[in-house]
Amino acid sequence: MKTGINDNNDVKQNGYDDKRHFNGENEFHQQNYDQLKQKTNNSNEQENKEQEQKHERTPERKSHKLEWGYSILNGPTTWSKLYPELKAKRFQSPIQINTDQTTFDTELKNQPFVFKYDDDCCQTLENTGHSFQVSGKGNSCITGGPVKDEYRFLQFHMHWGANDLEGSEHVVNGSRYPAELHIVNWNTTKYSVPKDAAGSENFDGLMVLGVLVKISFNDNPDMEKLLKLFSKIPYKGDKTNIDSTLSMNSLLPKDISSYYTYNGSLTVPMCDESVKWIVFKEKIFMSRRQLDQLRRLKHCCKSDAHDHSNIYLNYRPVMPLNNRTVYRSFP
Ligand SMILES: [Zn+2]
Repeated sequence: MKTGINDNNDVKQNGYDDKRHFNGENEFHQQNYDQLKQKTNNSNEQENKEQEQKHERTPERKSHKLEWGYSILNGPTTWSKLYPELKAKRFQSPIQINTDQTTFDTELKNQPFVFKYDDDCCQTLENTGHSFQVSGKGNSCITGGPVKDEYRFLQFHMHWGANDLEGSEHVVNGSRYPAELHIVNWNTTKYSVPKDAAGSENFDGLMVLGVLVKISFNDNPDMEKLLKLFSKIPYKGDKTNIDSTLSMNSLLPKDISSYYTYNGSLTVPMCDESVKWIVFKEKIFMSRRQLDQLRRLKHCCKSDAHDHSNIYLNYRPVMPLNNRTVYRSFP
């Protein structure tokens, strides 16, 4: 782990140079990172000392790479430093969607989505250290909309912020929402395993359904089925079975015919440009109490005795559109 005071400065200089591309997005991130920095500095200093001691004992560990995350040391503005191959990627996600600059595509309207999500497709819930993740086996699939191939459900997870004013990855007409659900499906017509689909770089390997979350006074009863299980997955790597029926349809907005779609990427390293993005126009709801529960998940393993901080935020700032067209399915 090559961290220290000098590296902190490095991160600031290199990472936030990109501010001009993000229309101030990173300033917002910077504020949160500044808040988080205070929280993480103490543990990082201790961690650095321990790592330096370890390095003295085992010099070969000096080449060990810092893993990506969302802190001041390893957050989105440092990812291209951690993984230089990201610098060449041009069609990244998330993006800012300006609805008056989207293009209405009548084909999308005439070719509705066909969802065949089984009621028991959500089988396990895991803390990945970056979010929670619900995975399933079986044949739940989706076709239609902007694609003709069949896509099979792989997993869903969420992105959220340190407070209720931020958290979603996509920004619509300048509004960022407190959270965003991502339902990831992989193309079984063209690819034989999810890994090949995710790495396709052809915008056809994955179809990710993005559902923006608004705050409501009442709890979301379907999300509550999941959140009740969070006490079983406090630490990274914790995993539990979902015994109750959690229908994917209940997590989607009622109107799935109105959406925005564009070609983009995974929003976490390696940020492969393999994704057909769907961002629904209609939002779903969660209560403040429920959003708070997301922030209680920890990003580390139970055995990391010196760092038990939470996943306070886990969203990537918006990326440049670079002349891509964002289509919409409604007039
Ligand atoms: Zn995601």
